Amino acid sequence: MVNSGQEKFFYNETRETMDWEKRSADLNEKFLKVFHYAFQHSKAYQDIFRSEGIEESETKGIEDLEKLPILHMNDLVERQKNDFPFGGFDTIDPGHIRRIYINPGLICQPGDWENQDTSWAEALCGAGLKEGDRIINTFNYHLWPFAFMLDDAVKMIGATVIPTGVGNTLMQARIMQMLKVNGFMGTPSFLMTLTQRAEGMGLDLKKDICLERALVGAEMLPESLRDRIESKLEMTVRQAYGTVFLGCMGYECSYKTGLHIPDNILVEVVDPNTGKQVETGHLGEIVATNFSTSYPMIRMATGDLSMIAPESCACGRTGPMLKKIVGRIDQASKVRGTFIHPWQADEVISHYPEVFKYQVIITREDHKDIMTFVVELKEEVSRPEMFRGRIERSIKELLTVKGTVQVVPRGTIPDRHKKIEDRRSWD
Ligand SMILES: [Zn+2]
Repeated sequence: MVNSGQEKFFYNETRETMDWEKRSADLNEKFLKVFHYAFQHSKAYQDIFRSEGIEESETKGIEDLEKLPILHMNDLVERQKNDFPFGGFDTIDPGHIRRIYINPGLICQPGDWENQDTSWAEALCGAGLKEGDRIINTFNYHLWPFAFMLDDAVKMIGATVIPTGVGNTLMQARIMQMLKVNGFMGTPSFLMTLTQRAEGMGLDLKKDICLERALVGAEMLPESLRDRIESKLEMTVRQAYGTVFLGCMGYECSYKTGLHIPDNILVEVVDPNTGKQVETGHLGEIVATNFSTSYPMIRMATGDLSMIAPESCACGRTGPMLKKIVGRIDQASKVRGTFIHPWQADEVISHYPEVFKYQVIITREDHKDIMTFVVELKEEVSRPEMFRGRIERSIKELLTVKGTVQVVPRGTIPDRHKKIEDRRSWD
């Protein structure tokens, strides 16, 4: 199953490289299957779809996907409170539940007897991990499912897992040395912590530590951190993106062009206000549908922001790709009665590559909200007035609220700044 061609590893090469027509027919079939299955077997979906006036027979294919409501995390939480433990989303025979996972907030999730989800296995292969590798899994095995999902994925690719979990760095450094561990799964920051621990113990990072490849996730991976780890340990670090409810939604291959969307998940990027898909190359919220027949998630919102990449990747994978995750849809600020989300401000600035860094400041004068985009430039622009005017027009166009632009010297905006800083006082 695993292709071991140099630097081009696939979990299932035929599926990952199939042409567009075949792929869309296949996705269509899988979507309809899960939709009908959920409609017929899940109490929660029966309720959700009926209350939205959705008839089973009217959903004929993927083209009708946008008519289905978006499922938010709070909907799931609310339904679990009233219908414990799975909120009626489960479609699994209770006798076939292998584990009940408990996510933060006491959100229960059923685990299959046989895990069928190959999305993380695809991610492992994308990171270059392969049959016969020895991989430490430093994700936490307690309560929540993520470590188990990856554990199963290691089995799928025919490699060996060492279930170390998080913490205990001294012991983990020793384990890596003694067992000649060549693969790592965990957060990038924990990989850095382990590296520093090994150094502190006097281990030679290139001789005593044999790590070759890492699949990291669950937090942002700054390029500077990736570079540091890769050069210190002479290894490659690739990231994957996903959630425990949906599975893996994107992973990097050796080329790092973007996040390849795995074969068995349907990912959309939508306008969070309307639930409609945005065009390729435009920023929006990631919403996904998995094809699980035990705990199906249909159009579940992640709260994460990205875009579908317009380019293709040299590795040969033909499925769609996400760009990196740019942030969360959180704490929108209301300016003159209109919500402004950090992602919308990003969208404005994404049109101006001249901008190095920016921050939106909201103040209030004479009982009127004032929105100022404070920007630092990479280098001086030839006509600053015109440049400011262009951004101001984009602000009005994209945010529908007037804003002004103030150019400040490099270093003015603090390193750890809030994207939208609300300085209004309401006393
Ligand atoms: Zn690729």
